[in-house]
Formats: sequence, C-alpha cells, structure tokens
Amino acid sequence: MTKNSGVKCSVQQCKHNENEQYCNLQTIQIGTHEQNPKMDQCTDCQSFELK
Ligand code: SF4
Repeated sequence: MTKNSGVKCSVQQCKHNENEQYCNLQTIQIGTHEQNPKMDQCTDCQSFELK
C-alpha cells in the first residue's frame, strides 16, 4: 500500500488508512446523506471500509 499524499484522513477505523493520517487509495468517492448539505458534517467518504 502506498499513501496518497493528496488525501489526508484521520479515520483510523478505515482499512484504507494505515499511513500516518493519509488515505491509501488513489481516488476516493465523497458523497452526502443529506438532501441539502450545508456543513462538513453532511458529507461522507463513501470509499470507507471497516478494518
Ligand atoms: S477511504 Fe475515505 S475514510 Fe478511508 S482512509 Fe480513505 S479517505 Fe479516509
């Protein structure tokens, strides 16, 4: 696995996060669970997978 220095992430529970707060994936998908998102809490990393 190689870290993607362009994607910082602090979600330690994700299996793609093994490298000093960076994501291992080359690309990630971001989405929302809200109909009308207005703040950062409304967005989700949809590439998350539990370790
Ligand atoms: S897939 Fe998403 S949640 Fe997982 S390490 Fe990458 S950016 Fe973080």
